[in-house]
Amino acid sequence: MNVLIVFAHPSEESLNAAIKDAAVESLIERGASVKVSDLYRMNFNPVAQLSDVVVPTDTNLINEDLFIEREKVRWADYIIFQFPIWWTSTPAIVKGWFDRVFAAGFAYGPGIYNHGNLKGKKAMLSITIGGKDLGSYGPKGLKGEMNERLFSIQHEILYFAGMEVIEPFIVASGASYEARLDFINQMKSRMNSIENLPIIQFLPLEAYENGQLKEGVEEIV
Ligand SMILES: Cc1cc2nc3c(=O)[nH]c(=O)nc-3n(C[C@H](O)[C@H](O)[C@H](O)COP(=O)(O)OP(=O)(O)OC[C@H]3O[C@@H](n4cnc5c(N)ncnc54)[C@H](O)[C@@H]3O)c2cc1C
Repeated sequence: MNVLIVFAHPSEESLNAAIKDAAVESLIERGASVKVSDLYRMNFNPVAQLSDVVVPTDTNLINEDLFIEREKVRWADYIIFQFPIWWTSTPAIVKGWFDRVFAAGFAYGPGIYNHGNLKGKKAMLSITIGGKDLGSYGPKGLKGEMNERLFSIQHEILYFAGMEVIEPFIVASGASYEARLDFINQMKSRMNSIENLPIIQFLPLEAYENGQLKEGVEEIV
């Protein structure tokens, strides 16, 4: 089993780093092969140029950093994204990783969603949020329902590229010390049974026509 962890946090002493380290430890213990793209330590350039977002026909023209990252994605059966929620989404360095690595002709195109080019792989978001619990992200929560917040990443990037998306792992960074240790242990358990973690059930492209859900579709999917 090959697992790529895309990790984004400026500090190696952070809670995010501790969760990432726990994941690596647990995966290695169970015999998985693990690669980590530590975006800050790699000084990953997140600013896409037009030459990055579409794979050129002449592969010699592909930037070396993108060539390396795409090889890791090809290699991986599972891709875990570990980052703090910043302004309701990914830190810019992760967004830039998607902008540049998930180019047309690599992650998608011509197929998209259940026909995307990364079909057969599974992805999972492992994120931290501010606050002591998930209350503000619950139904009627101040910050809006978490699944809606994450739709743009889980549905519109990961599933768009063809991957199955595992239910996210969400850690409240302001929880008590004991609760934080428990979260770290939960991450270890998750990695120990990653193949059995529940998948989010997104509808196939065939359930839509002109971007709209077909009538009566609930009965046919
Ligand atoms: C630019 C920006 C925008 C933000 N926008 C949002 C937003 O839209 N929504 C939102 O919910 N939040 C937001 N936040 C808050 C952000 O999500 C949290 O600060 C972040 O998730 C905390 O993760 P961290 O790894 O940085 O935690 P850290 O600050 O590293 O740690 C959090 C706590 O865990 C402790 N800790 C660290 N390591 C360990 C360990 N090994 N074991 C036990 N405890 C440990 C630390 O001492 C600290 O008490 C934003 C923050 C920033 C900077």
